[in-house]
Formats: sequence, C-alpha cells, structure tokens
Amino acid sequence: MKDTLKHSGMRNKLAQVLSAKGIQDKTVLDAIKTVPRHLFLDSSFEDHAYQDKAFPIGAEQTISQPYTVAFQTELLKVKSSHKILEIGTGSGYQTAVLLHLKAKVYTIERQQELFKKTKLFFNKMNYRPKKVIFGDGYKGLPQEAPFDGIIVTAGAPLVPKPLLSQLKVGGKLVIPVGVEEQVMTLFTRKSEKEFEKQELGAFRFVPLLENKN
Ligand code: SAH
Repeated sequence: MKDTLKHSGMRNKLAQVLSAKGIQDKTVLDAIKTVPRHLFLDSSFEDHAYQDKAFPIGAEQTISQPYTVAFQTELLKVKSSHKILEIGTGSGYQTAVLLHLKAKVYTIERQQELFKKTKLFFNKMNYRPKKVIFGDGYKGLPQEAPFDGIIVTAGAPLVPKPLLSQLKVGGKLVIPVGVEEQVMTLFTRKSEKEFEKQELGAFRFVPLLENKN
C-alpha cells in the first residue's frame, strides 16, 4: 500500500474535523496530517482510515478513534525529546503520533500476536521507538523511569500505582478510568507526594487486562 496525495488530502480533512471538535494544539493536528493512518489498518479497510472512528485491528483490539488519539496526545503536552511511556501499542498509530512530536517512546503491548506484528511494521516503516516491549502495562517500566508522560490507551478499571510513581515531578499520566465507560483522567505530579487530578469527559476503550497473553 502507498501513501498518495489522495490520502494526504483525506488527512487534512480529518485534521479539520478534529479541530472543529476542539483539538487546538497545532503540533498534534500536524501529526494527524502527517501520519499515514491507512497503513496501520489492513488494506481492505483503507477507506475507513480517515473517518473519525475506532476500527478493529485483530486479536479483539481496536485502533483508537483519531479524536481520542488527538485528545490524549494534547493532554500530554509532549515536547521534543520527552520520555514517554505508552501502555497498549496496538496498531502502533498512537506511537507514530508521539514519534512525530519527537518524543522518545517506550511502548508496551500484552498481546503477543499484536506485539510481533506491530514491531515488524515499525521496522518496515522506519519508525524508531526506543523500546517496544511485550509485557504487562499495569507494572509500567521501572527500569526506564522516570517519564515526562505516560499514556494508557486501554480502559483501566483502576489507576495502577506504579504508573503514578514512575512520573517525573511535572510529568503527566493520561488514563481512561472505568469499566464499561471510562472517564479520561489527567494526573500531574506536583511533587514527590502530590498529584493533581483532572477529569475530562467520557470515552470508550477496550479493557486494560492484567498479565501477558
Ligand atoms: N494505542 C493503540 C490502541 C490499541 S487498543 C493504537 O493506536 O492502535 C489498546 C491496546 O492495549 C490493545 O492492543 C491491548 O492488547 C493493549 N493492552 C490491554 N491491556 C494491556 C496491558 N495490561 N499492558 C499492555 N497492553 C495492554
């Protein structure tokens, strides 16, 4: 599959849709205009790639809706060379958006099948996350902590304590919390012991599951 002018035109339209829905960060909109989302889906679903919708990617998982990717990314306030941990690699689309913002990305996936497929895809596309890990995101990645930002891309029934403790002071954790429906929650570490918590609306994610599979 190729990336063509037609695809780039569709991405520009998608960025306009997301902007109309409230996404303001120019660097995030620029990532949406640049990352070829159709290449993260099976070729037969190419037509769906630039609609603002979630989509199945196999192993009962989904690529998040573009609005959700943009919303979570905007909350992280990513700066160049920030160290970011992503929980739930999935298709790799969110990873690619973070890489476009020049973050150093560490990403964890618990489904072996998806982990292998997406790791190969990153190589093929020349996307260079710092590490792609097969593991359980509930534990975070203590050996690489602390992080400027942590983004969880599956619905968490509770906030895993290790993720809060692996933030730098000033760092942010963006996590959808809840079982059937999730509340997008932003934690900012104010000091060693203090965290500010903000709740930012309802979303629906596939569940964050414990252990590897
Ligand atoms: N960021 C992905 C979204 C994928 S959906 C994208 O842009 O495509 C959420 C992903 O989280 C799924 O791939 C699922 O397998 C994974 N996941 C669920 N529980 C997990 C856990 N405990 N640790 C790591 N990944 C997990």
